[in-house]
Amino acid sequence: MTRLLHADAILLGDGTAVRDGAIVVEGNVVRAVGPAAELLPRAAGAAVERLRGVLLPGLINAHTHLELSGMRGKTPPGAGFVPWLTALQQARAEELEEERDAAIDAAIAAMQEAGVVGVGEVSNTLVAWARLSRRFFGTLWHEVFALDRARGLEAVAALPAARDGRAPARPNVRWAPAPHALYSTHPDVIRALVELAGDAPLTVHLAEHAAERAFLRDRGGPLAAFYASRGLSDAARAFPVPGIDPIAAARALGLLRPGAALVHLADARPEELAAVAESGAIAVLCPRSNLTIDTRLPPLVSLRAAGVPIALGTDSLASSPSLDPLADARALFERNPEVPASFLVAAATSGGARAIGWPELGRIVAGAAPGVLHIEGALPADADPSTWVLRVRGAARRLIVPAGGDS
Ligand SMILES: [Zn+2]
Repeated sequence: MTRLLHADAILLGDGTAVRDGAIVVEGNVVRAVGPAAELLPRAAGAAVERLRGVLLPGLINAHTHLELSGMRGKTPPGAGFVPWLTALQQARAEELEEERDAAIDAAIAAMQEAGVVGVGEVSNTLVAWARLSRRFFGTLWHEVFALDRARGLEAVAALPAARDGRAPARPNVRWAPAPHALYSTHPDVIRALVELAGDAPLTVHLAEHAAERAFLRDRGGPLAAFYASRGLSDAARAFPVPGIDPIAAARALGLLRPGAALVHLADARPEELAAVAESGAIAVLCPRSNLTIDTRLPPLVSLRAAGVPIALGTDSLASSPSLDPLADARALFERNPEVPASFLVAAATSGGARAIGWPELGRIVAGAAPGVLHIEGALPADADPSTWVLRVRGAARRLIVPAGGDS
């Protein structure tokens, strides 16, 4: 069935917009997009749906941990990473399986309501994989962390069997292995994961907080105390820290490569960003999570100036108020007025699509099936549509065309 969607503005996902635009859709596939004045006469006979407000590609949440959805409100805000992690581990140990599963289902429903079509899920247990795969596209990163080399290599060797035991029948969310972070995963284990990943998308939490930098430099800072409190003093003492900063260390381990999703970079320094830009890696920013845990924001202006591609993620409900990547775009927009809203909306769509290894999502372009999200409302004639999308509160959102070309 051919549909013709006519809206006040269409955001194409690459930072550009068409005012008074139209999209011709067949099934889920975009056949044409452009000014309504050009497309309406060409599509005579098709049913025209006149929509008030803005259309944009389905959103991409490029970093989340669904299995932590039951941890909302169980961690102390603003206290820094180690107190947050300590509380998280305690609450996770006390959580019942039924509570966890109900929280995952609610989180999936909330992402669908927000207009998310693609996810970058990081998981230790794979419990959400099949459920995610029924509703979204993306990558599930099967995460390993281990200070101890032998234990970590054993965990890597066990990944394929764990994957095969949980693989959904229709894996729209594809499996890939990933290290947790440089301070929590032995360098040889990281190398083994990079090798196992092959050409699959790669991700790592990187330069999230100052504690990471302190530990990588000389095993100092709050992480050393945290490991001691967990009875891991020996493993932490034996951990071969590189004695260099996080981004240089990531480069040495082969993690800075084209398309690699580097999550957070909140503690990255402007002079470190050229190496990220040169590598072709993508920064996945989770600003509301950073604000919650550490009361700081990623260096968006420096990242943009360095030419680093940007995607947005929410992180989990243990540190983020919601799983809506447009809310993270808004959080950055409100605090960085010099950055155009169109850049941030592109980060929540095409930027995220690249980060999760589904570049065919995130852009409304002929031949693609990115899903079409309608944000309903009265767009003022003189308003920039991306700015309106980030400023409007309480507007109804509806995915009026699903993502994916085969249904
Ligand atoms: Zn994370």
